[in-house]
Formats: sequence, structure tokens, C-alpha cells
Amino acid sequence: MKKHNFNAGPSILPREVIEDTAKAVLDFQNEGLSILEISHRAKYFQPVVEEAVELFKELLSIPDGYSVIFLGGGASLQFCMVPYNLLEKKAAYLNTGTWAKKAMKEAKGFGEVVEVASSADANYTFIPKDFTIPADADYFHITSNNTIYGTELLKDIDSPVPLVADMSSDIFSRPIDVSKYAIIYGGAQKNLAPAGVTFVIIKNDVLGKVSRHIPTMLNYQTHIDGGSMFNTPPVLPIYTALLNLRWLKKIGGVEEMEKRNKAKAELLYNAIDNSKIFVGTAKKEDRSRMNICFVMKEEYKDLEADFLKFATEKGMVGIKGHRSVGGFRASCYNALPIESVQALIDCMDEFEKARA
Ligand SMILES: *Cc1c(COP(=O)(O)O)cnc(C)c1O
Repeated sequence: MKKHNFNAGPSILPREVIEDTAKAVLDFQNEGLSILEISHRAKYFQPVVEEAVELFKELLSIPDGYSVIFLGGGASLQFCMVPYNLLEKKAAYLNTGTWAKKAMKEAKGFGEVVEVASSADANYTFIPKDFTIPADADYFHITSNNTIYGTELLKDIDSPVPLVADMSSDIFSRPIDVSKYAIIYGGAQKNLAPAGVTFVIIKNDVLGKVSRHIPTMLNYQTHIDGGSMFNTPPVLPIYTALLNLRWLKKIGGVEEMEKRNKAKAELLYNAIDNSKIFVGTAKKEDRSRMNICFVMKEEYKDLEADFLKFATEKGMVGIKGHRSVGGFRASCYNALPIESVQALIDCMDEFEKARA
């Protein structure tokens, strides 16, 4: 049976990217060796990192003065690396969900942390709009897409202080104005590559301003100077990221990607809004295109387990909602075809007709 992969992360990648990764595992560039058994400094691998960096810059129109690096440790390590490298006295955070809160928690070990606004009281169903960013903060941290709650900040905001964004789950889903950000980071396993690599886009001139000693491996400058080769980088995930970026370029880049993502999200949200039994959980104006969260209306609540079983039997994978929201979450990342969204909607319709 065909599977429709709505996993929240690690998540769907284009089939051809997976197939070409598999080929490189067996024989990398017809050299008779696997990509798993060559030096990361080999003449074969160095160009992989270089091309991946170039494609980041090209596809996101990254201006001069920025570096792109690949690290280990996931987005979670960035929760600590950001304050380590940037926080001298005070940092500001927008609390929009679980990941934002975790980022904020780490920063508290390095200085004063100001929560400028929070939607915690409303179970993070919206993104706060009215807030003031303290002009004396060393940086302002946001989470552009809240993977668990299904809200997304779809515009690049203006910040009077360096803007830092966790874009783990919406990077490359739409064009962004990188010049508005000081740092953009994310774990790759949602929209870019398999788990194991973290990308960081850094404006070079925000570094070197804190007085504390920064351990070598946690210092961004180390990895910028080393071209992501200070220590052995996650070779295979970086290679898959490169293949995925080539795929993205081939289909028309982030502009085309945004069109496709919009179309998928509109299709599914329309179906939810027109349903007798399902209802969306996030406020309409803040709805995520990447993670679409919905539950059953109060009077049908006891059918949730049945629908999950029904949909799973029809090939839907990964649609169970996160425990903090409940219900269902359909993650519609870049590589998910619109046919999968339609298949889910067909499931929802069929279930509704049979049971409600
Ligand atoms: C998944 C996710 C993380 C955690 O990423 P790791 O790479 O597992 O550390 C952080 N932030 C957001 C927004 C995420 O979606």
C-alpha cells in the first residue's frame, strides 16, 4: 500500500534524494568507495560542503557578510550556542511554544532573559503581536515555525537588535529576507536532510562581542574559520542536504516551493474548516503551512482514536497530534506531494460520511 508520510521530524524527503543518497553509500561518484569510508577532507568531499554552502546562499539570496556552517548537536545545541556567543547582559525571547521555551531556558544560564510576550496561557494557539523588544538587548530570539502547535510567523519582522531565528521546521519553505536576521539556525531533519546535521547562517559581524571565554567547539568562529571542517562533520547528512538543495533548485527554488506549500496548506485547511467533525487548533492568521494541527469537535471527541486507526489503515503515517495538543497533526513539509494531502482529505471525508 502507498504510504503518505506526514511525519513531523525526521520527515519526508524527495524519493530521488533518498535514492541518490543510497547510491553514494554504495559507491560515491564512481570511485569504488562508499561515502561512509572516505576522509571528510578528501578531494571528493570538500566540494560537497562547498556546493551546499553555495546553494544555501543562492537559494536564500544570502547577502555578503554572512557565513553558512554545518554542525552537529541539533537545534537543541543552538539553544545554548546562541547565548554563549551573543549574550553579554540581556537577551529577549518570544515565547511561542515548547521549542521557544527550551531556547529561553538555556539562555538563562548566561544572563538576563526577557520574555517579551507569550501565548502559553492559550496553549500557544497564536503568535503574540503586541510586544516591545528592549533596545538594550543583545539579541531577540524567535521560533519562526512552531512545529508542535502549528503556528508560523510568515513574515520577516523588523528588530532594533540582532534577530535570531530557529527555523528548524520551515527553512526553505518560502523566500526569506536574510538581511533582517543575525542568525538563522535549525536541525536539518524537518525540511532539509536526515537527522544529524544542523545548519547555521550567521552575520559575521555579530560575533566577537562577548567577554566570556567560549569553548572551542561551541564558538561559531571556530567553524566559520574551519569551513565546517574543524572536526569531522556529519558527512552523510550534509551530502543528502546537498542533493535536496539541488532538487529544490531544479524545481524552481523557494518561490516555487512557497507556491506548492501554500496550495497544500490551503487545501487541507479548507477541508478542516468545511468539516462537520474536525476543527483546526491554531488561530487562522497564524496557521502554519508546515504543521497542520486539528482535533475533533467536542461532540465527536470520542471518535479520534477510531479516525487515527482508519487513516493509518489507509496508509497515512505520522498524523497523531503531539501530546500537548492532542488530535492530529499533518506535517506538510517541502517534499510532501499535494496528492498525499488529497489522500488525507479523502480519508477525512470518507470517515465523516460513515460516522457523523
Ligand atoms: C525539531 C525542532 C527542534 C529540535 O531539533 P533537534 O535537532 O532535535 O535539537 C527545535 N526547534 C524546532 C522549531 C523544531 O521543530
